[in-house]
Amino acid sequence: MISEFSLIDKFFKQKKHLNEHTNLGIGDDCALLSIPTGYELAITTDTMVENVHFFADADPAQLGHKLLAVNLSDLAAMGAKPIAVTLALTLPHIDENWLRQFSSGFLELARQFSVDLIGGDTTQGALTLTVQAMGIVPKRQALKRSTAQIGDVIFMTGNLGDAGLGLKIKQGYRYEAAQAALERFHTPMPQIGKGLALRGVASACIDISDGLLSDLGHILKQSEVGACIEWEKLPLSSSVKAYIAQTGDTLMPLISGDDYELCFTVPSQFVHCIPANCTQIGTIEAQLGLRLLKAGHIETLTATGYEHFS
Ligand code: ADP
Ligand code: MG
Repeated sequence: MISEFSLIDKFFKQKKHLNEHTNLGIGDDCALLSIPTGYELAITTDTMVENVHFFADADPAQLGHKLLAVNLSDLAAMGAKPIAVTLALTLPHIDENWLRQFSSGFLELARQFSVDLIGGDTTQGALTLTVQAMGIVPKRQALKRSTAQIGDVIFMTGNLGDAGLGLKIKQGYRYEAAQAALERFHTPMPQIGKGLALRGVASACIDISDGLLSDLGHILKQSEVGACIEWEKLPLSSSVKAYIAQTGDTLMPLISGDDYELCFTVPSQFVHCIPANCTQIGTIEAQLGLRLLKAGHIETLTATGYEHFS
């Protein structure tokens, strides 16, 4: 049986560092990073547990990709540039075939963003995957949740609900052109470039991991403001529109998670500065709570859906 050390060497140790801020990577008691003056270190961690966050039959390469993607997405949402990650693996047993695929999915995405895997831990137990991701952001420029202002315009990147449709398809919903939605569910892309472009432009930002209502709700609560979003403006793909037309499930794009797009607020004087492929979806208001303007009517929403119709 392969030892912990040769497992790390074989599957996780990169030949050379990709990031200029990595001074020492895998192999010592700690890794060493340099943080440039004038920058803050942004740190986040996310765990994925088998049968809770992913299915037991999940493709290992997609799992490696998604585990890293969800962590990098948190850095994107802060406007931080990712530099390095650590990986804590709890494995029921050593399956070299599984590890090869998992590490290839993980390291391929890391390479795309010049992120170094600088260390971690390997233990035995029920399959549990944890990443800690670190990034840098110029002091006072991080995009927080608590700083949206009344009158700010609400935007989001990309489309809403494609990953949710992918999950519906996995759960048995029959749809002809399933590939794109399944890809969005299995291999989300962290919106790093957009997060960087929003420094000095967005007043608040969050990534959509639990669903728009829930995640925008965090900005509203922490900023002590309310919002109205406009149904007709939501960026829905033709697949999601077809799903809604067929099922009548208008709630799905609002409450499904896993899109890992960014939802952000922008003061009106900076609206002309926002990056391409972002859609205006609503406005921050003084009245607390979240409302949906749909076909000329305003409905009150909760984090999990409609509260009542008026
Ligand atoms: P220690 O006992 O000092 O914590 P370990 O024996 O756990 O060190 O790990 C040896 C080296 O391998 C360390 O540099 C550690 O960061 C790294 N490492 C262990 N597990 C992983 C992993 N799953 N992925 C990446 N690096 C790892
Ligand atoms: Mg250890």
